[in-house]
Amino acid sequence: MAVQQNKVSKSRRNNRRAHDSLTAANPNECSNCGELKRPHHVCAACGHYDDNEVVSLNEEIDLDEDAA
Ligand SMILES: [Zn+2]
Repeated sequence: MAVQQNKVSKSRRNNRRAHDSLTAANPNECSNCGELKRPHHVCAACGHYDDNEVVSLNEEIDLDEDAA
């Protein structure tokens, strides 16, 4: 097990943690469905990007229907 050689002072520890805060997300409204989405990413709700449908999310494949 690694053992530290010197105690890290509160000041040094806190200075290190000064850069640890997370920045808030900056969501945009989807131009197709109005849902909040990450900028420069495909909309997770409707699969559109820049008014084009890039990912189709609507069909649900039921594999068990014809199995029996
Ligand atoms: Zn959308």
